[in-house]
Amino acid sequence: MANDGKVKQHIPKELRYSMRDFNSEFPNDAACLEYVKEQRWPDGMAQCAKCRKETKHHRVGNRTAYACQSCGTHIYPLAGTIFQKSSTSLKTWFYAMYLMGSTRCGISAKQVQRETGVTYKTAWRMFRNIRSLLSEGDLQLEGPTVEVDEMYYGGKRKGVSGRPMRGDKKKVPVVGIVQRNGLAIAKHVSRVTARKLTGLIRKHVTLGSTVYTDEYAAYNTLSMGKRFVHRRIKHSAGIYVQGDIHTNSVEGLWSLIKRGIGGVYHHVDAAYLQSYLDEYCFRYNRRHKGNQQFRSILERASRSVAA
Ligand SMILES: [Zn+2]
Repeated sequence: MANDGKVKQHIPKELRYSMRDFNSEFPNDAACLEYVKEQRWPDGMAQCAKCRKETKHHRVGNRTAYACQSCGTHIYPLAGTIFQKSSTSLKTWFYAMYLMGSTRCGISAKQVQRETGVTYKTAWRMFRNIRSLLSEGDLQLEGPTVEVDEMYYGGKRKGVSGRPMRGDKKKVPVVGIVQRNGLAIAKHVSRVTARKLTGLIRKHVTLGSTVYTDEYAAYNTLSMGKRFVHRRIKHSAGIYVQGDIHTNSVEGLWSLIKRGIGGVYHHVDAAYLQSYLDEYCFRYNRRHKGNQQFRSILERASRSVAA
């Protein structure tokens, strides 16, 4: 079934999570610290490195440490997390993650600066760190119907859009793979070649799936070896939807990303582009899950990245 290219979002009432819910669950730094501790050591139970006992640990005064009930040796829930070396309050971090998980279009460092009083630089760094948690890595799209397309970010040429011409180096190619009514992946690539496209598709798409693309020549080898059923839409003939043959889902993802980056972040340096793509895909992949977006970010942030 064709859709209109818009990314639809339906969030059942029980999955909604308002600012009020946030403030009542995380009223202060202590509540946030407790949350991180519980993620790593439920009920404060941890094996002590010194006395080797599996025992309860209790918060040490105002510090971010918890002490072994038996011998007093400390454990540190923030060790190895993105919060570890930060002087910004945990509540501000949690709020930034809440915003990141609540928006559809992205959230600017300016807004966090305005609302929390941290400097712009601090807000920007917080978001960079949060974004670094959002990669979906080896995500598998389980088919049976996926759409693949490329888009070119930045470096607009006058009056011309689409694939860059020779010497048009400023445009940065991104490959998108979207399962219809399902998950999405977007990857920044150095060049769009047949090898690169096929490699990405083989990595993320289940064998035997039907893959819809446009007529770009780099897709020519896709059906070789009969790994995938390949269907192409003839954009050059002015045809955009022909029954099931369309790339509306991946175009919906592009418009979300372009509107978001253009409207909120204005410009994204190529070096950081992947982390922004990850941010949009992370939310897209949880678009029907309401507060699960925020929960997923929290869970990832509570894990030690250094371990
Ligand atoms: Zn101990």
